[in-house]
Amino acid sequence: MSFSSQGFSKEVVQALTECGYEKLTPIQQAAIPLARKGHDILANAQTGTGKTAAFALPIIQQLLNQPKVRVRSRTRALILAPTRELAAQIAENIEQYTKYTNLKVAAIYGGNKMSSQVRSLEQGLDILVATPGRLSEHMELRNVNVDSIEFLVFDEADRMLDMGFINAIRNIMMTVKTSPQIMMFSATTSTQMNLLSNDILRKPKRISVDRENATADTVAHVVYVVDEKRKHELLSELIGKKNWKQVLVFVNYKENANMLVKELKLDGIKAVLCHGDKAQSARRRALDEFKEGKARVMVATDVAARGLDIVDLPHVINYDMPFLAEDYVHRIGRTGRAGKKGNAISFVSREEELSLVQVESLIGQRIHRVILDGYEPTNRDALVQKMHNKPAFKDRKGRTNNPSADQASAERRARLRSAIKNKKS
Ligand code: AMP
Repeated sequence: MSFSSQGFSKEVVQALTECGYEKLTPIQQAAIPLARKGHDILANAQTGTGKTAAFALPIIQQLLNQPKVRVRSRTRALILAPTRELAAQIAENIEQYTKYTNLKVAAIYGGNKMSSQVRSLEQGLDILVATPGRLSEHMELRNVNVDSIEFLVFDEADRMLDMGFINAIRNIMMTVKTSPQIMMFSATTSTQMNLLSNDILRKPKRISVDRENATADTVAHVVYVVDEKRKHELLSELIGKKNWKQVLVFVNYKENANMLVKELKLDGIKAVLCHGDKAQSARRRALDEFKEGKARVMVATDVAARGLDIVDLPHVINYDMPFLAEDYVHRIGRTGRAGKKGNAISFVSREEELSLVQVESLIGQRIHRVILDGYEPTNRDALVQKMHNKPAFKDRKGRTNNPSADQASAERRARLRSAIKNKKS
């Protein structure tokens, strides 16, 4: 199904062509015709499925079909998103889709100066993308008024609720005096989600599409079996030898992220950091450098990287295996998007074998293991042997941490006892 067959203006179709969009993704096929008819929508979809265009394009087209003079401090469409990164990304996408129109789009979120946001709000907008917290602040200061909105979107509604935005959302809803068309997107359902959707959606059309998950044919999975302490060498070697240009690396701790970036820099590989301790502006800069190809590697923690969309990202590396198997799917959801090819590479030390098994059972496939020459993990038998040769420690009840050593000493004692006995007789 092509975009031109959906009744979009030629300005929009041209912009989409320049974005490289030819056919509608499944969520777009399901949502766009319904949204164009004005239905409320409750969609179950992940980032990576093309959901931004699924809700944004019908809104853009309706705004173009019914042009109105912009009113100071007001917006015609409001899109709420849980995080700054996601809000910025949605606004960026919409700016691309509307580049040949005169629609005005802005994003407001925490971490950026209120004053510059006030200026863009003052002039009036067609589409405002906002995080609920920052929007509430601006509403209290009367910098923006959402009482006359015609379209309302909740993107990643489940995460907004997880992050405790329910009161902010309810306050925002209370000021809305119109009956906007509402679209709610969420990856998961919960009682709280159901309560909210039952409360505010009118006869919604329900849509559900499978996320482009780990089992997507477009993603090739591979595991490198490696000792923990050699992971950074392996990473530098793979990047260098295979000439990987854009690599998103996931680690479990901020400290590991800092250390790894230093190591990569020592190896002459430009790397940037994206984790929660970094200021918003620094994270944004890092993401831009990574997207523009100025940095070859971005090292990120799960929370900081959620929802980030990096077009055509070819390589995602699990430097640490995630604690939760679901996070594997979230992480690698950043590659192989919208039908493109991607590589999911995991570094697995002995201690992480169990996590790997859990991931395999979640995605329903066994992942190919590779041991790179020179990176053979320390021999397991040797490890076991070493452990058995360790002296045994006994706890107060006489239990030992090393049964074989304990047995050896028992045998020694028995031999000694019988030698003493023999001497006596
Ligand atoms: P999203 O789920 O909105 O974050 O989109 C995921 C990625 O798919 C983004 O890079 C979009 O630019 C891209 N995308 C969305 N729709 C299409 C499409 N119809 N064809 C190709 N790429 C798309």
